[in-house]
Amino acid sequence: MKFQQRLMMLSSAASLTLVFLLLLYSPGVMHVPRGHPATRHRRALSIDYDFDSNQWTPALQNPQCMENVDVKQLDTSTIFTQNLPEQTNYKIYKNNQYKLQHPNIKGVAEKINVIILPHSHVDAGWLQTIEEYYVNHVKGILNNMVKKLNTYKDMTFVWAETVFLSMWWNELDDDVKHQVRRLIQRGQLEIALGGWVMSDEASTHYPSVIDQLMEGHQWVSENLHTKPVNSWAIDPFGHSGTMPYLWKQAGMENMVIQRVHQAIKATLASQKALEFNWRQNWDFSGSSDILCHIMPYVYYGMQYTCGPDKQICAMYDYGKPKSLKEQPTGREITKQNIATQAKYLYEQYKMKAGLYKYNTVLVPVGDDFRFDTSLEWDTHYHNYKKVMDYINNQNWNMSIQFGTLKDYFRLLRDEEFRKSKGIYDSFPVLKGDFFPYSDQNSEYWTGYFSTRPFHKQLSRDIEDNLRAADILSTLAYSQCKKYGIDFERHHDVASQLQEVRRNLGLFLHHDAITGTAKPHVVEDYENKLLKAFNLSQNVISITAQNLLTDCEHDDPVILSPEKFRTDAHSPLRRYTVTVTKRGTKLIYFNPLAQERTEMVTLIVDSFNIEIKNSQHIYIPFQINPVFTSTTNIHQTQFEIVFQLEIPAFGLETYTLYKVDRNVYGYWSTVETFNLEPVQNQENMKFKLKNYRKVHKNSYIENEFIKANFDRKGMLNKVYDKTVGIYNEVELDFMSYSSEGSGAYIFYPSGEAVGILEEIVPNIRVIKGLFMEQIQVVYKNLYHSITVFDTPSTQGQGLHVENKIDMRSKVMSDNEVIMRINSDVKNSDGSFYTDQNGYQLIGRKTNFNRRIETNYYPITTMVVLEDSVKRVTLHSKQSHGAASLHQGSIEVMLDRKVLSDDNRGLGEGVFDNRPTISNFILQFEHKSSAVPVNNYHIAFPSLVSSVINECLQQPVQTLFTTVRNDVFLPKIHPKSQSIPCDVSVVSLKNLVTSDLVYSGSSLIIHRKKFDCNFPTAGLQCSITSTNPTLSSLLPNISISSVRETTLTHLHRKSNVLLEKELAIPTMEMMSFLLDLS
Ligand SMILES: [Zn+2]
Repeated sequence: MKFQQRLMMLSSAASLTLVFLLLLYSPGVMHVPRGHPATRHRRALSIDYDFDSNQWTPALQNPQCMENVDVKQLDTSTIFTQNLPEQTNYKIYKNNQYKLQHPNIKGVAEKINVIILPHSHVDAGWLQTIEEYYVNHVKGILNNMVKKLNTYKDMTFVWAETVFLSMWWNELDDDVKHQVRRLIQRGQLEIALGGWVMSDEASTHYPSVIDQLMEGHQWVSENLHTKPVNSWAIDPFGHSGTMPYLWKQAGMENMVIQRVHQAIKATLASQKALEFNWRQNWDFSGSSDILCHIMPYVYYGMQYTCGPDKQICAMYDYGKPKSLKEQPTGREITKQNIATQAKYLYEQYKMKAGLYKYNTVLVPVGDDFRFDTSLEWDTHYHNYKKVMDYINNQNWNMSIQFGTLKDYFRLLRDEEFRKSKGIYDSFPVLKGDFFPYSDQNSEYWTGYFSTRPFHKQLSRDIEDNLRAADILSTLAYSQCKKYGIDFERHHDVASQLQEVRRNLGLFLHHDAITGTAKPHVVEDYENKLLKAFNLSQNVISITAQNLLTDCEHDDPVILSPEKFRTDAHSPLRRYTVTVTKRGTKLIYFNPLAQERTEMVTLIVDSFNIEIKNSQHIYIPFQINPVFTSTTNIHQTQFEIVFQLEIPAFGLETYTLYKVDRNVYGYWSTVETFNLEPVQNQENMKFKLKNYRKVHKNSYIENEFIKANFDRKGMLNKVYDKTVGIYNEVELDFMSYSSEGSGAYIFYPSGEAVGILEEIVPNIRVIKGLFMEQIQVVYKNLYHSITVFDTPSTQGQGLHVENKIDMRSKVMSDNEVIMRINSDVKNSDGSFYTDQNGYQLIGRKTNFNRRIETNYYPITTMVVLEDSVKRVTLHSKQSHGAASLHQGSIEVMLDRKVLSDDNRGLGEGVFDNRPTISNFILQFEHKSSAVPVNNYHIAFPSLVSSVINECLQQPVQTLFTTVRNDVFLPKIHPKSQSIPCDVSVVSLKNLVTSDLVYSGSSLIIHRKKFDCNFPTAGLQCSITSTNPTLSSLLPNISISSVRETTLTHLHRKSNVLLEKELAIPTMEMMSFLLDLS
């Protein structure tokens, strides 16, 4: 029987069971415990929790805990980037440049080896869209590359961006493909980095960075038969400390970066430390070391790479000028001028060598979209060839040749080995990162952390969807295999997932997520993101249905996602779910590897409903109003709130029935301030309290927290009920007026000023059984704070949502922040920001320097602490953040900057979209006072870690009004609880370019956490037991498992399913599973 026919038949069946269960249900004896009224009520309803909410006994010996080590003692010779500012001269010299001192080198005692490295920097969208760039330049570069490298057998080329290779590849004959592979085998062509794009390092979230790296690596491995061993990231605007870890885990040994603060480069050069082993903060053995080369001069273009003299370097640039106004600078090498021209270069190379510890010199020859014409290849080759031959034949103690990064690092490491006699690694060790970035003129690239936040946020929504869709499709594929059925939609799903992955990967490019592209390019990204969003939701629906029907009913797909987007530039919207008498099914999916209990909300079309869970138990719910305007309650839309319990990777069904009168619905109280009285519509039973003015402080509370608000509706004090302590806190919205800000640069004219001073907001406070919420409505700003009444970690934070709209003219040249002032005594200006969501790094505000120099990127959290308490602002999207005063945290929400900031974009950014941002504000008190002994390293508490994971990986919600009994009520794939500190970064099927299944990928991460905080509310295990693969994936039948490098290019050993995985803390393990 066809699925559709069965659905029709079933839809006519009477729901007698409903009546029966209604009769059966009895709330039992009322037991009224002490505590918050809502808690008493909830407990009276016998809602039990199967997890222990006991307090943590501070078992600091737990190996996952942060050791109380004195990091400085273990790292006496390590360079900490946080210490570099105090050694640095930030003065600006001539031409608005920071000074880079070259040692005075007269003669050359030792031979200098120079590698000339031809390359082309190709942006995957910036001033033109990716397709425009491909047609106008990239195709020409790549076609010429094959021709010229075959002609000039001693010439080399380095390429980084896989997205362009994949576009080009589809147009090639097999013969050309073969030639490309041969160029790689011969060592003439090197694929460096090999990510889908050269990703931004400030605003990107590490699972996405890994995902696009794996997409690129799998592609180059399959099509080019090569494995990148060097990373090449010369244009991202500042460099994160997480990237070297990811590159190393993916099998890369060396890396090159460029955009490091020019004054910091000078400090490193003075210590002969522009080449160093970049080591992770938590690593004391050097296992994470990757050799990093920083290019010393201001830009990567060839006018800045031969040595310090721009005029001289320009003479060896034979490309077309960028505009008609400019003259070509390349000087043809002739018999007459070769002696002089060679000498010039020789002197520059020598000066450059003087900046480094070793005499191996890297000279990149290239720039944006270079080598796109045959002539440019020829002129560069012939002129350089003449100079090289000439220098090599002089008695100058210099050897010079074309080479790749492989050649450069081989020579460098050989020299280092020779000089250290192989006894020790003599490169300096460095820990930290390179934010913020400044190239010249004391201008800081800290604006782009917050430019075009709408798209930064949208990309994170897609990341959530993609991860959920990947897990579901792996589970579906495995389930069908188990039943011996073909997963009919495999090809379809794989194709859609590939498009989502590639569109999201593209957006990680350093001119995309950064918000620094031209408006028409932004629109192109937007459309690709919207497509990715819709496709990812489609895959979630298909695969969830497949799982719930035991692989039998793929068609038609009757599940719809509860959230949707109408277009590419409006915020996410929610469907109003129609509740039917026969039952509307809600399907929830938990993408986390741990069980979770949390309050969920839903917009429904009626309040006369009942909710049953998959065990047919009636679920009580709170009814909240939906407002059509500040005072009007919607007549046919209501928000309901109820508690969802869902195991790891589980699918759970709740069914909503339309009834004549609801029994288990609890109407909320609605307090309004500064508003006309709100009226109940027909049959509504909201308890309404209207206050014309805010005559007293309003508050919301749950069992953990009581949050108070001032007359503007802003948070101003938080009482922590678990320890009986008031946290002094003030939240405010403020704005910087920009003076020289642009898409990249933040340059405010002075301090931020409050923007809510004179305005009286409309305030609504909703209080009910399961949640309490304040809603503050200003003209261009909607702000709400919610507390959920659940004993899980969800109850321990203030859930903040802002919707900001900067489209109006009055917002021009404004950069709006949310600032939270607390009583945390970080008097030395120290605080912590996350790096790509993988780790926290210590920051120290320099109160004597300008505001923009103290801004840092955040992806998931910013933390303030003193010896007794900690305040964490968890963030669902990337922002610029700072702590400019003791106890203060601020995040920049949006910016509208009219002027260009002279970094190539040629215009400001004023195409703002109404943008939603979500945060959780968490207060924690240490179990015992612990002095903050150094500011380089910190870890979240276990509770903080779980709160953040739940924020980053929201439950996915689907619904259907089509009644059927072919759906299983639930799927609980995991029986064993895995420890709280183990997370599954990704679980997905890999496919070849032809979409053929080629294995499944699993990445696990073990976190380190700070044990000085309570663990109330955790549902997962807090023991230090090691998980096994069969405990992580019990319902998946796996025929073989191999541990590999991060992107599966290099295989390690086979792993037994029952073997405990001893994942060192802060490390990731990557596995290739065969499910076939
Ligand atoms: Zn670029």
